Amino acid sequence: MFKIIDKYKLASKTHYVLIEAPIISAKAQPGQFVIVRIHQQGERIPLTIADFERNQGTIALVFQEVGKTTQLLASLRKGDYLLDVLGPQGNPTEIALYGKVILVGGGIGVAAVFPIARALKEKGNVVTAIIGYRSKEYVFWEEKMRLVTDQLFITTNDGSYGQKGFVTDILKTLIAEDYKPSVIFAIGPAVMMKAVAELTRPYNIKTIVSLNSLMVCAMGMCGACRVEVGGKTYFTCMDGPDFDGHQVNFDLLIKRLDTYREEECYCCKK
Ligand SMILES: Cc1cc2nc3c(=O)[nH]c(=O)nc-3n(C[C@H](O)[C@H](O)[C@H](O)COP(=O)(O)OP(=O)(O)OC[C@H]3O[C@@H](n4cnc5c(N)ncnc54)[C@H](O)[C@@H]3O)c2cc1C
Repeated sequence: MFKIIDKYKLASKTHYVLIEAPIISAKAQPGQFVIVRIHQQGERIPLTIADFERNQGTIALVFQEVGKTTQLLASLRKGDYLLDVLGPQGNPTEIALYGKVILVGGGIGVAAVFPIARALKEKGNVVTAIIGYRSKEYVFWEEKMRLVTDQLFITTNDGSYGQKGFVTDILKTLIAEDYKPSVIFAIGPAVMMKAVAELTRPYNIKTIVSLNSLMVCAMGMCGACRVEVGGKTYFTCMDGPDFDGHQVNFDLLIKRLDTYREEECYCCKK
């Protein structure tokens, strides 16, 4: 059993949960995730380790309420327990001294970008981040991101906060102004990662994306999280979640993310 040390709402439909998990926090690296199961009959869901504090023995998760399990998780309180937290899973993001790096985070993806930005900054890179949200009510971790970046841009689709538009608008401007990084890390909705990869492809800027394919076993056995990268099939859980964005078949990923939309539509079943 894993104790919830703290839990609060960060923004609309967006929650922070701090969990006592000393063994996981001792090993966690940026880019890795855990598999959470709330109770015996519950489904297993993957959530990125958004922060870890080795001295405290804790990990932090940030999640958006989208369906049954994330809604149940949102209803839990400080002092409650989770049945299983399995991890750290997945390969860590490659942290190196690249020089200039740009991180692009979309919506809940900002939480996954944070530990990568911090590690890249600690390594000595010049870190620029572009974070985008649907609107002001979804904005979270602006100040936290500011602490681990040299330059931070914020966008909202409707212009209710920061610059109006998409993260790719800022990225386009930076590249046009000849601010070319050695590498870009993009984490967010598949359509956003696809747009970033298409934008950087003609400039040959290395673009790493973290794929959020549907996942069931997370042990490389069931194949639910399979993705096509460079014409070959890979499992996000074992081979990823980071992949070369220029090689990912995003259209297939987007199609597969929709596979169970009707069955999982919680509001239709109420
Ligand atoms: C490696 C990895 C890390 C992730 N990290 C985070 C995280 O840090 N925070 C977070 O909020 N979410 C994260 N996700 C997505 C998260 O796992 C899903 O949102 C969650 O499983 C949905 O469960 P549910 O029962 O609430 O919704 P469901 O009832 O299963 O689904 C509700 C709706 O969400 C869609 N959905 C389900 N799973 C995904 C998915 N993987 N990607 C996109 N849409 C999905 C469904 O198609 C459906 O429309 C991650 C996914 C992966 C693969």
